[in-house]
Amino acid sequence: MMKEDFFKYQTQTTPHPLALEISHAEGSYIYDTNGNKHLDFIAGVSACSLGHRHPRVVKAIKNQLDKYLHVMVYGEYIQQPAVELTKLLANKLPDTLETTYLVNSGAEAIDASLKLARRVTGRSEILYAHNAYHGNTFGALSVMGYEERKTPFGPLVPDCHPFQFNNLGDLDKITTNTAAVILETIQGGAGFIFPKNGYLKKVRERCNETETLLILDEVQPGFGRTGKLFGFEHFDIVPDILVMGKGMGGGLPIGAFTASQEHMALLKDNPKLGHITTFGGNPVIASAALATLQEITETDLISQTLQKEQLFRKLLKHSLIKEIRGKGLMLALIMDSSEIASEVILRCKDKNLILFWLLFEPKAVRITPPLTISDAEIKEGCDIITAVLNDINAE
Ligand code: PMP
Repeated sequence: MMKEDFFKYQTQTTPHPLALEISHAEGSYIYDTNGNKHLDFIAGVSACSLGHRHPRVVKAIKNQLDKYLHVMVYGEYIQQPAVELTKLLANKLPDTLETTYLVNSGAEAIDASLKLARRVTGRSEILYAHNAYHGNTFGALSVMGYEERKTPFGPLVPDCHPFQFNNLGDLDKITTNTAAVILETIQGGAGFIFPKNGYLKKVRERCNETETLLILDEVQPGFGRTGKLFGFEHFDIVPDILVMGKGMGGGLPIGAFTASQEHMALLKDNPKLGHITTFGGNPVIASAALATLQEITETDLISQTLQKEQLFRKLLKHSLIKEIRGKGLMLALIMDSSEIASEVILRCKDKNLILFWLLFEPKAVRITPPLTISDAEIKEGCDIITAVLNDINAE
């Protein structure tokens, strides 16, 4: 009944959604309405950084529910959860990333950061990477590096141009006409591609030379997933604008972007209201995000992600796995073909292990579990993957 209504009334995004009917979720497990318990190696596509219903997050939400919900549009009233969240972020970030604007989604944060870059520089050109994914609003879609998915919706935002990630030869495309270069610090949809050979440092240098802003999208690697609070900390650089989302909210919807006071001040004047939102900074969501950031930064969860990565790499040695890409708990198994990758995902689903695809790398199997996953749960899931790979090999 619920399934029929799902297909009838709720708009679909693909012809074949997984259609798992959820009863409840706790820790690293999701329970369906048939009474099955599924081990979650995806964490809501990196959103449930602390697993499902983390007690500290649930407590923070409940406390806030008893005080106030939405009271005013973003930025007018002083609301403790949003103030404390943005203050803690500033304390954890490099000095130049001083002030944070809280919005509703990763894509909105991307749009606003592109607007800010144009406003700061007075230029219009934006460079984005081949195979980049930054979200699905018109602005974010305009900097998606996958033309096939964009053209049916055009014309998009003008003066956005692609270049190759990790290609030093393309750096001279950054000129004094360029408002911003936008990159995922570690490319997600493209296949968990790491910047190599000092690439990000060179991009940073070129941006400095041309007074172009560097926007780093940390919607996926942010909040501890790769063994640092933010991915850019691996590369000894600081972006001009840092974009966040997903795992920031501990399971509630959020996006944010952080920059210097000097740059952000341009959103409030001449014209004033340069970016406005009703629900950005929502007190319940900000409480959840604050509890999440506190938990991630007050425990050893971040350093544990690197030990957990090693356990995954040790347990997932198999002739069908060509490569394991990524870092920390942002991992992708690269298979020989897209067919094998899909088989693994679907057969593991039948064995109650949740895996998922990557947007633009069909040979990849995504593994992005909650940061709180235990060694025993990692072993349980890897045993299922190995059994499925053995079955496929034996056929
Ligand atoms: N940037 C990246 C790197 C993402 O992975 C995503 C979401 N998958 C977004 C931006 C957009 O975030 P949202 O879906 O919250 O709009």
